[in-house]
Amino acid sequence: MIDCGGVPMAIGVQTDMATPALALHGSRELRDEFLAPAIAGDFVACLGVSEVGSGSDVASVKTRARKDGADYIVNGGKMWTTGGTQADFCCVLANTSEGAPHRNKSLIIAPMSTPGVTVARKLKKLGMRASDTAQLHFDDVRVPQRYRNGEEGMGFIYQNKQFQLERLWGALNSVGMAQRAIDITIDYTHERRAFGRTILDNQSVGYRLAELQTAIGALQALCWQGVEEVVAGQDAIRTAAMAKLKAGRVIREVADGCLQFWGGMGYMDDSRIARIFRDGRLTSIGGGTGDVMLHILSKSMGTFPRDRCRAGTRIDPTPTAPPPHEPHRTGPCHDRHAHSIPQNPDR
Ligand SMILES: Cc1cc2nc3c(=O)[nH]c(=O)nc-3n(C[C@H](O)[C@H](O)[C@H](O)COP(=O)(O)OP(=O)(O)OC[C@H]3O[C@@H](n4cnc5c(N)ncnc54)[C@H](O)[C@@H]3O)c2cc1C
Repeated sequence: MIDCGGVPMAIGVQTDMATPALALHGSRELRDEFLAPAIAGDFVACLGVSEVGSGSDVASVKTRARKDGADYIVNGGKMWTTGGTQADFCCVLANTSEGAPHRNKSLIIAPMSTPGVTVARKLKKLGMRASDTAQLHFDDVRVPQRYRNGEEGMGFIYQNKQFQLERLWGALNSVGMAQRAIDITIDYTHERRAFGRTILDNQSVGYRLAELQTAIGALQALCWQGVEEVVAGQDAIRTAAMAKLKAGRVIREVADGCLQFWGGMGYMDDSRIARIFRDGRLTSIGGGTGDVMLHILSKSMGTFPRDRCRAGTRIDPTPTAPPPHEPHRTGPCHDRHAHSIPQNPDR
């Protein structure tokens, strides 16, 4: 039993965040060179999407890859890159042309040993400390164009699809963390005594744990629904967003509720429940915040104000980009924030 969230997260980045798009869209050559060794455990992969100025607003990333002969020259930087200090290659989301932000990006594999790739710093985190998270710089990084994953200009779309797995993974990881919190709290409260009996001998404690256990069960069912959709080849964007949103809330409620039953011991830095409390906080942030999940869901329900301003029609919940030649609209629905989350509901 690995009693922390960081190690599973490091593995999750490898299996469900940085490589699914490569498996789906990479050429045979690219998969042989990077995916096969990643699956074998010989290569560590990391995902370079977020930047200092672009987290929720994925479409606004500034990293650029311009063509030079048979190569791309990549310039920019990535932030909060999990596994960045140890990775062998980074799947970089970069702008490869001008134009609509949903159609001008590509996913490019950048080996971390390429001249110009530097790990600026390893970041200190509230939790998930058993995994590393880094800031990366790309200065005139030359990679062959054959390292582009799939079609040029499709990076944003591919990444959106990849986010579905990241979110389901994050939700399921939270189920595991929350269950662990319940299990160790039952053990602890069974041993700890106050007023001549164990903490668990108080009925209110058992009832609260039962309430929290129920929340975990409901979340787990939602996660499995998402997994079944993925396995059936269906689009899981909506279920993944619901699962991720709910998971962020459930793990916070469970970790906080359980920590309370540990009293002062729960507040100690090295207690296992404190670690779950810290590690679990990430679920509402990484891979798209809770607000971004609400935005996706609101769009899929046709209740998002900007969409209601359009034709009064529901929006297809699939993660497709707007039509390439969609005319620019002006009017009361297009406020100054129109380029942030409202247009880019993807993290
Ligand atoms: C430990 C850790 C590991 C990570 N690993 C990776 C990784 O491996 N690769 C990677 O690419 N990224 C990674 N990330 C980045 C993560 O995905 C982003 O932090 C996340 O998407 C949020 O972006 P942000 O931090 O820029 O928040 P911001 O976009 O600055 O948002 C700040 C807050 O404002 C809210 N907000 C923003 N816009 C709106 C709006 N219009 N309406 C309402 N609320 C809004 C957000 O919900 C959030 O609560 C990691 C982050 C952490 C903390």
